[in-house]
Amino acid sequence: MTPNGPSTDVRTTARREVLISGASISGPALAYWLHRSGCAVTVVEKAGALRGGGYPIDIRGTAVEVVRRMGILPRLRDAHIDVRRCTFLDAEGGQVASLTPRAVAGGVEGRDLEVRRGDLAAILHALVRDDVEFLFGDSIDTLDQSGQGVDVTFRSGRRRTFDLVVGADGMHSTTREALFGPEERFHRHLGYGFALFTMPNTLGLSRELVMWNTPGKAAALYATGDNDEVHAFLTFHQPEPPSDALRNPDAQRDLVAAAFAGAGWEVPGMVGAMRDADDLFLDTAGQIRMPHWSSGRVALVGDAAYAPSFLTGQGSSLALAGAYVLANALATNRDHTAAFAAYERDLREFVAMNQALVDNGAATLFPTTARALEQRDAMLRGLVTLPSATPRPAHSALALPAFAHDGRPVPPSGAARARPVR
Ligand SMILES: Cc1cc2nc3c(=O)[nH]c(=O)nc-3n(C[C@H](O)[C@H](O)[C@H](O)COP(=O)(O)OP(=O)(O)OC[C@H]3O[C@@H](n4cnc5c(N)ncnc54)[C@H](O)[C@@H]3O)c2cc1C
Repeated sequence: MTPNGPSTDVRTTARREVLISGASISGPALAYWLHRSGCAVTVVEKAGALRGGGYPIDIRGTAVEVVRRMGILPRLRDAHIDVRRCTFLDAEGGQVASLTPRAVAGGVEGRDLEVRRGDLAAILHALVRDDVEFLFGDSIDTLDQSGQGVDVTFRSGRRRTFDLVVGADGMHSTTREALFGPEERFHRHLGYGFALFTMPNTLGLSRELVMWNTPGKAAALYATGDNDEVHAFLTFHQPEPPSDALRNPDAQRDLVAAAFAGAGWEVPGMVGAMRDADDLFLDTAGQIRMPHWSSGRVALVGDAAYAPSFLTGQGSSLALAGAYVLANALATNRDHTAAFAAYERDLREFVAMNQALVDNGAATLFPTTARALEQRDAMLRGLVTLPSATPRPAHSALALPAFAHDGRPVPPSGAARARPVR
């Protein structure tokens, strides 16, 4: 790979052709805004079809304004999971506290959204599929920036040249690795491993979350409706990242089973269900922190550039806001170097504030010591009497500018800068 080409765009009068790698959240969101500003967009996704599944994700603060401007807020409101309560259990399964979701997560009732990740991905895909070229079941093999564009070779063997390439390929981005080097350089391990999967709703749960904890372990069942299935979530203290186990599905299952050996409540049944699950998603809680999000004509967006970790609940919101800011910077600046600089300048503080949530208590739901668990339980009991927790300023800390050069009115305008948190 050759990292740097000339900084000005050579095909100044032609329609800008952009390749996006990854069709989950940030990829299709970016595709929407780039198409709207007149780019010809291709999205390549290594999976053979749109990937469904995943635990519910949150769209909060600034990201709600992004989806409103995309015109998909009504569809997302229909898909909103209206969870009634979160119940916390002790080691024996006794109730510690039962709370409203917003008391726990600091969301804003009536504004912030929680939807199934697969629903959000499907809504975004439906929005752009007629305007954007999707290449499923393929991926980038090589990128060469030595010419007047980015020469791309795909795994399938096809070759094409684009003006720009954007990696929207997630936490373990191969675009990032190809441009900037191994993930370890940018990965901040947060001390937890987690497994997500679906399993039968044997407890008959309905629109509620039940979480069992002992020090260093949490097991949660999340009923997003009145279905026969629930989302199961096992998280465990893992001081060092289990890099080898992450590459091997059997080793992943063994790692989780070993972490929960001897645990009470419904955990043995959950571990058994995990062994049979065909949708297991296992990873470590970690963040991506990079000094720069672009190199030459290639940039990164979403988790690939600034994954905040599930502990913040802000992954999808950063992906949506980041896609908007990047597309707006490209619509404003014909020179991609200036555009990528503007993207970083306008988004970085917002990203930093949201990544910092893990240092400001976002991990308190998963205490690793008996003492910390006691403190957390006392905190939860205290929240029971509060009507709602204070919304987290970081969620809304970016004021979006009007979208540039698309000929459509978008209220309101202003500089895209993170507001200071008081
Ligand atoms: C199947 C799945 C389930 C998830 N479940 C949860 C969850 O339960 N809870 C949670 O907090 N977050 C989950 N996430 C992550 C969450 O979607 C992101 O944190 C956030 O939405 C940011 O999205 P993103 O589009 O930047 O990255 P991601 O959502 O990670 O999407 C990256 C996309 O790139 C594709 N891709 C990866 N490598 C390549 C490649 N080399 N070439 C082409 N395409 C590639 C992937 O298949 C994926 O579609 C999940 C992601 C996926 C893909």
